Order: sequence, then C-alpha cells, then structure tokens
Amino acid sequence: MALANNEWLRSSRIYKRIVSVRLPLGAAAVALGASWIFGAISAPPAIAAFILIAAAILLGGEHATDVPLNAVTSDGRAPGERIPLIETVLSGLPQPVIALDVQGEVVAANAPARAVAPALRHGEPVSLALRVPEVLDAIRRAIASDVPQRVEFFERVPLERWHEAIVVPVALRAQALQPATRLILLTLDDLTPLRRVEEMRADFVANASHELRTPLAALSGFIETLQGQARDDPAARTRFLSIMQAQATRMARLIDDLLSLSRIELNAHLRPSTRVELRNIIRQVVDGLQTLARDREVEVRVATSSDQVEVLGDRDELLRVFENLIENALKYAASGKRVDIALSADSSRNEARVAVRDHGPGIAPEHLPRLTERFYRVDVADSRAQGGTGLGLALVKHILNRHGGRLTIESVYGEGATFTAVLPLAAARAKGN
Ligand code: ADP
Repeated sequence: MALANNEWLRSSRIYKRIVSVRLPLGAAAVALGASWIFGAISAPPAIAAFILIAAAILLGGEHATDVPLNAVTSDGRAPGERIPLIETVLSGLPQPVIALDVQGEVVAANAPARAVAPALRHGEPVSLALRVPEVLDAIRRAIASDVPQRVEFFERVPLERWHEAIVVPVALRAQALQPATRLILLTLDDLTPLRRVEEMRADFVANASHELRTPLAALSGFIETLQGQARDDPAARTRFLSIMQAQATRMARLIDDLLSLSRIELNAHLRPSTRVELRNIIRQVVDGLQTLARDREVEVRVATSSDQVEVLGDRDELLRVFENLIENALKYAASGKRVDIALSADSSRNEARVAVRDHGPGIAPEHLPRLTERFYRVDVADSRAQGGTGLGLALVKHILNRHGGRLTIESVYGEGATFTAVLPLAAARAKGN
C-alpha cells in the first residue's frame, strides 16, 4: 500500500513498465507455477525461466533501445555476433542456460552451460555440442508447439548422472524486432544429488523393514510352535520363551535406535549449549558396562586427565556415543582381552579427545570408510549374534556432528582398532566460577 501510494514510484518508468506488462508476466508466473506444482519442473529451473521471461518482457517494448540495434536480426540472432542483453541476463543465472533461435542455433549461453557442453558456439546448431537425443527432441517439440517441454536424461560416462532439461519458448519483444522474435531457452539441471537422496531413503526403509521383519518372523514361528507341538513341553517352552525375549529386545533396540537417529537428524542444526564434564560421563558408561566386561573377560583401563574436561553437549547423547564405542570394543574385540580408554584435552586445538582402543581382530581397510553408514556391518551374522542393529556407529557420527565434533577410526587389520571421538572444548570458565 505504502509503495503504491508513493507518487515518485508511480511515475517511475519501471513502475509503469511493470504495470503495462503485468498480464504476460502474470501468465508466465501462473504457467511456471502450475508446472512446478504439478511436478512438471522443479523449483530452480522454474525460477530461472521466470527471471528470463520477465527480463525479456520488461526489457523489450519501450526499452527497445537497451538492445543494440545492430546486435539482433529478425530471427533473434546476429550473424557472428552475440546479443549482449541476453548474454548479460544468462550470465547472472547459476545453472546452465542456453538461448537458441527457432532454427535451434545458439544465440547465447552462460558459463555453466559452456562447462557442461564446451563445444557450444554462437550461430552453430546446438546439436553439435549437446548430443542428447531426448533434449534435441524436446527442443524440436518446443519450437513446433510453442509449449514448454521437460525431459530427464541419464549419462553413464564419465560418471553416472541424472539431468533434467527444461525447454521454454519465449517471445522477445523489442521495437527493433518486428514482429516479436521467438527464443528457445534451454535450462539444464543436475538431478543426481536429489536422486541419490531418494535412493538412500528407499534403501533405508527397505533395510529397516528387513531388520524388523527378521525378529518378527522368529517371534511368530515360536508362538506357533508353543501353540502346537511344544504346548505341553515345559523344557521347550522355557527355552523358546527366552529366545523370544531376546528377539523382542532386539526389535525394541532397533526401534529405539531408529527413533534416536531421526530425533538427532531433526536437531542436527541445533548445537547443544549445556556444559558437560566428560570424565564423569566416561566413568558412568564404564561402570554400566562392568557386567559385560566381566562376562567377556575383558579388562577396561581408563586414563583421564586430572583436570575437568568440559564440552558443550547433550549429556544423554554423549552417554550414547561412549556406550556404543566401548560396548563395540567389548563385543567385537573381546579376544584382545583389554580395552584402553584415554581422555585428553588439547587446548592449543581447543579439542577434547576420547580414544577407545581395543586389541581385537581389527577391521580390514576396505570396511573403514563405510562403518558409519546405517546398517553397514563387517559381519552381519556376528553383529546379530551380539544383539547389534548396525546403527550404533551411524548414531555416534550424527551425535558428534551435531556437537561440532567428529569420529576417527584407525585400525591395522589383526592388531585391534581405535575409535576416537573429537569434540570442541567449552570456553574456560571465568575464575571464581
Ligand atoms: P552394530 O549394531 O552391528 O554393532 P555398529 O554401527 O555399532 O553396529 O558397528 C558396525 C560394525 O562395525 C559392526 O557390526 C562390526 O562389524 C564393526 N565394528 C564396530 N566396532 C568394532 C571393533 N571395535 N572391532 C571390530 N569391528 C567393529
């Protein structure tokens, strides 16, 4: 309201120009908005196409003199010359955009487009530089029908990548161009990251369902047996009930880990702000795992500094980190008979480090980079036998990331492994606090 009442603004050329072209601008916005809503194109190309169309409409008409007269011909290009206006608009767009004339020849292209198709030349057919049949077909269809086209295509070499091409015909109205010139705007978008996320999500759901279905199938099997032939066998009943309890515990643990992961992801952008003392946390975790250590006949040695080591953290999440790391060492590396836990503070780097070193079988190098992936296990049967879910190290990584820290894993196969949690130190307390 305040803007519309402003006399100066109302009398300005750009305001009048916007008012005079509001219908084509609105139509372009509605067409692209509808294409976006119905999923025909994704948001970035839709916005890019709108900017281009708006620029073409606004800079056309009474701004015809903005277009150098000698720079354009009635077919929308200057033989051997560029259209500076279109070049300028394209250069401001982040994704690859190519402007073509109605013969499919290149009128202008921005730097990202040249990076994708280095053979693009002004005045040459785009088909010489972009040899993708799906895209060339879409360009032909857009020229013939004057209707925007969208195609997806897949590249195998040099790397597997998915792309999206949007082809939008636009009318360039300038006094120098009678009648109005048609341009074809080709926008390319890399869909690979989006596709990878979709694949990861699908894999995750498939893995989670599979992991839940296994204990559920065991439970159903034992229920049937107990209802049938084992109904009157007290010894079998006792044995089966204890297996069923273990399977139910495993399911509960899996659900717990899945919920924790999604909660941590939800809060990934929020840095914890409570001061937490790490010596305390490690002592609490080691105390809680004494029974497991005794069962596995593993000696746990803890070396901490005499000073307090404080970080900004979520106490429960940090307990989870050290529980996972120490429990893994006790489960998978019990053969080493000893687990060393070392807490240190490096004030020059402003880092607290907790290293959990075992002397077990170690981990082969090809597994190391994948250990923090959800459901990744070196030996699935071993992990299941230990009551593992395959989510422990994924949880550790996410929690440490949220705390601004990281996890490092070192191992020499056959000589044990060291998992180190690194966290930023909290600022020193003022004296007297
Ligand atoms: P799990 O629930 O299976 O324990 P984690 O994410 O905690 O899942 O660990 C992933 C895999 O990493 C384990 O299944 C195991 O194969 C391997 N692993 C973890 N810690 C150790 C260790 N200290 N020594 C050897 N292998 C380990």
